[in-house]
Parts: sequence; structure tokens; C-alpha cells
Amino acid sequence: MPRILISECKQEISSFNPVVAGYDDFLINRGDDVITYHTPVRSEVGGALNVFATRPDYELAGGYCARGITSTGTVSSTAFAKIAEEFLDAVRNAGAIDGIYYSLHGALAAEDVDDCEGYLLEKTREIVGEKMPIAASFDLHGILTDRMLQHPDVVTVFHTNPHTDFFQTGQRAARLLIRLLDGEIRPVQIRIPVPALVRGQECITATGRYGKWVKQAIDFENSPGGLSGGFFIGNPFTDVPDLASNVFLEADGDEGAAIELGTRMAKEFWEARAQIQQPLLNLEHACRIAIAAKGRIVLVDAADATSSGASGDSNAIVAELVRQGCTRTVLAPCVDAPAARACMTAGIGAEITVTIGGSLDPRFKPLAVTGRVRVLSDGHMRSESHGEHWYAGPTGVLESGPFTWVLMSRPVSLYDRTPFLVNGQDPANFDMCVVKSPLCQPRFFNDLAEHVLNIDAPGATSANVKGLGHKVARRPLYPLDDNFWKGPEVRVFRRH
Ligand SMILES: [Zn+2]
Repeated sequence: MPRILISECKQEISSFNPVVAGYDDFLINRGDDVITYHTPVRSEVGGALNVFATRPDYELAGGYCARGITSTGTVSSTAFAKIAEEFLDAVRNAGAIDGIYYSLHGALAAEDVDDCEGYLLEKTREIVGEKMPIAASFDLHGILTDRMLQHPDVVTVFHTNPHTDFFQTGQRAARLLIRLLDGEIRPVQIRIPVPALVRGQECITATGRYGKWVKQAIDFENSPGGLSGGFFIGNPFTDVPDLASNVFLEADGDEGAAIELGTRMAKEFWEARAQIQQPLLNLEHACRIAIAAKGRIVLVDAADATSSGASGDSNAIVAELVRQGCTRTVLAPCVDAPAARACMTAGIGAEITVTIGGSLDPRFKPLAVTGRVRVLSDGHMRSESHGEHWYAGPTGVLESGPFTWVLMSRPVSLYDRTPFLVNGQDPANFDMCVVKSPLCQPRFFNDLAEHVLNIDAPGATSANVKGLGHKVARRPLYPLDDNFWKGPEVRVFRRH
């Protein structure tokens, strides 16, 4: 009876968020709880469990899961050391196993480890030896490294952006692991780094240019000699040496077709690099458009996207609207624990004066606000997107003239309306809404809007990649540099 160890380590970070993340920024499951937690969930592990369940001859061993509660800044060296030790202890203490499945992200970096997933895979390989079959799944925002392909035998990666195929990506990894254990396949993997960072609407797989190459990778995956494929676009905010985009293809036996297709994909992607960027509007100009408009406006502040690893405490757009004397109604979220606490202390109905913004990231200047506390909540919520539990800590809604702030103590994802709705604020009831996310399902904000304005505001996850201040990423790298690439270099990884 083959016995499979199942573990997870998933988080993505922005190196430009000054707040270092700790162990408490992760949710942890151990042993049987790994299986119990994921069985009903549409996660990668949930998908793998779903496939393994079709094989009654398989036994599953829950290992260890560490999932970032929301994206954060760089993980502290002590926090990652603890997580890595617990993750690897689960391998050492697993007893006799015949295979491993890991659900990973690919854009996790700690203060002293720039390729955390590669590190976990390498250390796992040292423990279990060269022969143990290992499957791993990744997010397409992962920064693919040689180490991430040297140690696993089979790899799968998301095919959708925004991501909707968590479950299917885990299913695909589990199916490949089963075929490997059954002796059906001889995997060979290739990666082709493309030194270009991309961002914005063209990265939406269903509608953007990027989707074309993902489709080609899917077609390869489904072809007779193909096993897996995808296009890692990396996370421009994770400032690590290997930061780049990567074609990834995995073939059965012979890598010739993968190299031919991958080379073509890499060249086309490079040629289209300037088109796969996010056009941004100057902050002052965007606010003028918003104030002059008649209909509803979505003010996209992707530079402070908590789901990409920003701190969430930007006030930049509202500060500019205040400066321009805006009288239209505005709904805005802000992670500001002291302001939320002040709301709690004062109580519902009280008028208070606080500063909002800049409590975490010094690039934002605190804005003095006098307003009335309208709503208080404990910050527990269930996401309207996926139904998972989020926790924003004590939260206050402060109304100041036309501006309504939802002030949270901790960051949660802001790609849907959950933090607004759970605090009694429907974006549909405001003239403008600040949305701190690069991509949202249109029905949440954009469908009813007269204008969706992508604004060049300051922040740790700005699509204005040039202005972020990369120090570690290997250069040259587009768009920081241009016209330097000499063409694709294929790297081949074959374990047996
Ligand atoms: Zn992602």
C-alpha cells in the first residue's frame, strides 16, 4: 500500500513592505489535521486528496501545513527557521513513506533565505534520498529557480490568473505522482528564464495576452508526450536574485518538443513585454477625473494591495481627494491599528480626531481626520470569494464628511467587498471606492463603474515596478533595463 506524505508551505511576500512577518502570520496544521482541514476545501491539497481518494490502495499521511494568513513583507529569519524546522521534522517523523506531495507558492522569501521553497525541497531530498518520488505544485506568481526543479520529480502550476484552479492544480500533481509510482512515466522538466517582469490587465489569462502562452502550455500538457506546463510570471515585489518570468514544461521521456515550444513561448513573451504592463494614471490627474465624474468611480490602488504583500496602510488617494476638496462620497479601507483602537475606545457615535495611514509604512504621511464612529466589529469575516475565514482584528468605521474609512487592525485581502460588507458598507452606495487590489472579479466593483482608474500611487506593490527600488534581483531585468536579452537559454532537469 503506497503511503504518501502531504505537506504545504504557502506564502508570497513583498520585499518593499517594511513590516517583517512573523510565525503568527501563518496558519498551521499538523498530522491528521492537514487531511481534515483540506478535505472539504477547494485548495491544491484538497484537489490532491480528491485524486488520492480514487485509489483505495493509497494511504495518506498528513505532514505539516503553514499558510500565510494574508500576503506580507519579508518573513523574519527566526520565523522561517521555525517553520522550516517543523516542516522538515514532519518528513523525518513520517515513518515509512513511498511518495510526497507538497503544495507550495514560489514567492516566499525570508530575511536570510531568498528561495524558501527551493530550500525546503533541497532539505527534503537530503532526508528522503534520491529515489523518493516528490510532486510539487506552485502559484504562477512563483519565482522559479533551479533548486525548485532539481528536487521534485513532477511539478504543476496554476493555469488561471486571477487564480481559480487551486483544486485542479493539486489534482494534476497527484495524478502525475500516481503515474510516477505506477512506473508509467519518465519525467523531464525544462525551464527557460525570461528576464522580464509583467503586470496588469494583460496578465488576466481569460482575456489578456499572457493567456495565449498559458493556453499553449496547457495544450502541451494534454499532448501525448506532455505531462505538465505553465508560465511563471513571478512576483515583481519579491526582490530576490532569480526574479524573472519562466517558461516551465514537463515532458515524458524526451524533452525535444518541450524545448521547441518553450523557446518559441519565451521569445514571443519577450517581444510582447512592453504590452504586458499596467498603464497608470498620475495621482493628481486621476483624482480630478474622479471628482468631475457623474457616475461611480473605482480608484484602483494596486500599490497597496495586501493580497500582494503590501502593508495596507496607504492613505495616498484619499489624502489627494481631500486636498482637491472632494465632496463626492468615498469609501476607503486602511490598515491602521491605532486608529481602529481609538474608534473602539471612543465607542459608536463618538466623534474623534485621529491620524489615518502611515502607521506601518513610512512612505505614507499620516492624515489627520475628525469623524464619527459609525460601526465597530471584531474583524472576523468569511470571504465572499472563496468562503474562507479572514481576521482583520478590531475594526472601526469612521465617517468624516464625504469620506468613510474602514479601519482594520490587521491586513486582510482587499480583492473583494468582504471587509466593507461585513462592516455594513456597500461600495454600491458610494460615488467612489478605493480598491487595494490589482485584479478583482468585475461584479464586485467594476461592473457598475463609470471609470476604473488605475492610479500611480506610492506603495510596496506598485505596478510602477521601476520605482520600487529593487536591490537584489539580478540585472539586467526588464522594465528596469531594456534591449539586452540575447535569447532563450534552456535548462533541463532530469532526475532518473
Ligand atoms: Zn498568485
